[in-house]
Amino acid sequence: MKIVAKSTKKILDTKIPVFHQIKSTYQDNHTGIILLPDGKEIKTPVLWYGLSIVESVEFQKNVYSKGNVKAFLSNVYDLLFQDKKGKRATLIEEFTKQGMPHKLDSGGFQLMKANIAKDSKTKKKIKNHLTPEIVFNKQRDVGCDVAIQLDVPLSPNSTKKEQKEAIDTTIRNFKELLKLNRDNHHPLNIMPVAHGYSEEMINYCIEQYEELLDDIPIIGIGSLVPMVKSIKGTNKIGGKWTFVKNLIYLRKRLPNTMIHAFGIGGTMSYLAFYCGIDSLDSNGWIQKSAYGVIQLPGISDRFLFKKPHNRPYLMANRMYKRNGRKKIVNEIKMFMNCNCPECKPFQQNPDQKQAWIKKQAYFDKDGEEGRMIRAIHNVYVFNQELELITSAIENGTLNKFIEDRLSLGTYMKLFYYARYLKNGEIQKARNLRNNKKNGQKKLDILKDYFK
Ligand SMILES: [Zn+2]
Repeated sequence: MKIVAKSTKKILDTKIPVFHQIKSTYQDNHTGIILLPDGKEIKTPVLWYGLSIVESVEFQKNVYSKGNVKAFLSNVYDLLFQDKKGKRATLIEEFTKQGMPHKLDSGGFQLMKANIAKDSKTKKKIKNHLTPEIVFNKQRDVGCDVAIQLDVPLSPNSTKKEQKEAIDTTIRNFKELLKLNRDNHHPLNIMPVAHGYSEEMINYCIEQYEELLDDIPIIGIGSLVPMVKSIKGTNKIGGKWTFVKNLIYLRKRLPNTMIHAFGIGGTMSYLAFYCGIDSLDSNGWIQKSAYGVIQLPGISDRFLFKKPHNRPYLMANRMYKRNGRKKIVNEIKMFMNCNCPECKPFQQNPDQKQAWIKKQAYFDKDGEEGRMIRAIHNVYVFNQELELITSAIENGTLNKFIEDRLSLGTYMKLFYYARYLKNGEIQKARNLRNNKKNGQKKLDILKDYFK
C-alpha cells in the first residue's frame, strides 16, 4: 500500500482534511481516502449527489437508499434563501445520522445564477447576499464533513482585469474563512477552491494556497461549466479541449492532492475521472429523471419510446459510426440486464419481449412514481459506474475502461487528447487539437498513435 500524505503543522492547525492516496496507476489516477480530523473516512473516487429543491423528503430518501448513494451535497444559498419548509434541512439531518458524508457548498455559483436571472428581467441585483461570515456560520450550524469557501465563479465574457479581481476575492474569502475557523471552538474541515480558464490562472491560485497552507491535501476546481457547455463566451476560453488540458495540468501540478471538480456531470464525468479528478458532483439526476430520460453506461440520454420531440429512444439495433468503425448496440438488452432494484424484477420473466413491454410502461409512469422509478435506476447506474472506475484504477485498466465507455459517444477525440497529454506527448496533443476541424488529418494522427 502506498501512502502519500504530508500532515504539516499548518494544515492540522487550519483543519484541512488529510488525503491518503492508496493506489496510483498511470501516475495520474488514484484511489484514496479523505481522512477527516474526527476520524471519519471518505473513499475516493467519490460522487456527491445534490439534493433536489423540487422532490419530497420521502422521494429523496427512497432514491438515495435504493440508488446506493454514498455521499451528498447541499449549499448555503439554498438553505438560507430557498428552503423555507426545511425539506433539505430534514434530509441533511437524516443522511448525516446514517453517517453519509456531506459536502456543504457556499452557494456562490447559485447566487451568481440567481443574479443573472434577475438581472436580465429587472436590471436589478437580487437582495440576497452572502459573506464569508454568513456562509461560515451556516456551515457550522448545519454541520458538514467538507465545507466549501465562498468563491466567485468567473465569467468568460468579463475582462482579464475583472477575472483577476474575482480570483482575488475568492482567495481573500479563504483567508477570512481561515481566521473565522481559528477563532471558533467547532472549526470546519475546509476545501480551498481554485478558479481559472488557463494554466497561469490556476497556478496563480495554487501558489497563494501553498503560501497559506504549505501543502494542499484537497482542492476544488471551479468555473468549468462555461467550458463544457456551449454558452456565450465558450469559444473565448477554449471549450472542452481547454477543460481537458487544465484538468491534466492541475493533476500534474498537484500529483498527491485530492481534486474535486465542480459542475461536471454526465458523459463528461468519464473524461474528468480519466484526467485524474477524484471527486465530482452529481446534480443532473433530478432533472433528467423528471424529464423521462433513462441512462445506461456509456450511452447518452435515451427515452423509453419514440416521443413527439423525437429525441433518441432505446433501440435494439442502434448503429454507431465512430472513427470509421461501425458497431451495432442493443440498448434494450443493456437496459433489461440492469440489476437495480427497479429493473431486477423484470429479469425474472422468461419471456423477455413481454417483460420489455411491461417495463417500458412501468418506467414511463406519470407523476412522482415514474420520476422515482427512473431516478432510482439512473442513480444506481452512476454509482455502479463509479465502482467500476474504482476497480479499473486499482487494476490498472482505466485506459481501456474509459476508452470503451466513450467509444459510442462524441468525446473520443478529447479522450485521445487527454491520453497524449497524460503521456507527455505534447506535440501529438497539439496536432490533434489544431487539426480538429480536419477530419481526415485527425484520423491519420490517431492511426499513427495506434501503430
Ligand atoms: Zn435499472
